[in-house]
Amino acid sequence: MYFEITPDDEFIKTKKVPGPTKEEIRALVISKVRLTDEDVVVDVGCGTGGLTLEFAKRAKKVYSIDMNPDAISTTRQNLEKFGLQNKVELIEDEGLKALDEIEDFTKLMIGGSGGNLDNIIETGYLKLPVGGRIIITSIVLETATDSVHMLKELGADPEVVNINVSRGTVLERGVMMKALNPITIVSAKKI
Ligand code: SAH
Repeated sequence: MYFEITPDDEFIKTKKVPGPTKEEIRALVISKVRLTDEDVVVDVGCGTGGLTLEFAKRAKKVYSIDMNPDAISTTRQNLEKFGLQNKVELIEDEGLKALDEIEDFTKLMIGGSGGNLDNIIETGYLKLPVGGRIIITSIVLETATDSVHMLKELGADPEVVNINVSRGTVLERGVMMKALNPITIVSAKKI
């Protein structure tokens, strides 16, 4: 089955919530998650629901967590807009606390961790089944390097990809490229 990546401007947005993760980045995250229709995905820090929506189109079930109530309501609105609300359980809580309660997920996405990164990675990685995957997206370099260290400590073999996207504006005299801020994706398979 083919699913398109939803364009950024089709999301309902509010100033109080970051996101959605840019369309080009969402496409690459989907690739790194190696998503199948058998997967149960946990999205820690769902924000506007940009990644949650892409997971919900393709996976069996998604748990989306955010400690910001505005993020939960924005994600809900976006899921309803695209008719995907039945695939997703929304949890308004801190990521680690929520993760403690969830069993039997196969993929873990960490898009926000607010000072609790190491604990979220450790708890999540230990709960994943062998062959499951963990993905961390970061705009801050330290989030990526801390993730790599933590995953190595846990015995995983992390992959790191830095993505630089520039978008062109077509002007009279040519195309002017404008860079978006680079995103680093750290991912690993549960060994
Ligand atoms: N991927 C999202 C954007 C994520 S922005 C999208 O495409 O829309 C990061 C989010 O992580 C924010 O909404 C923030 O509230 C949330 N967050 C940060 N630390 C958190 C934590 N420890 N537990 C739960 N949510 C957290």
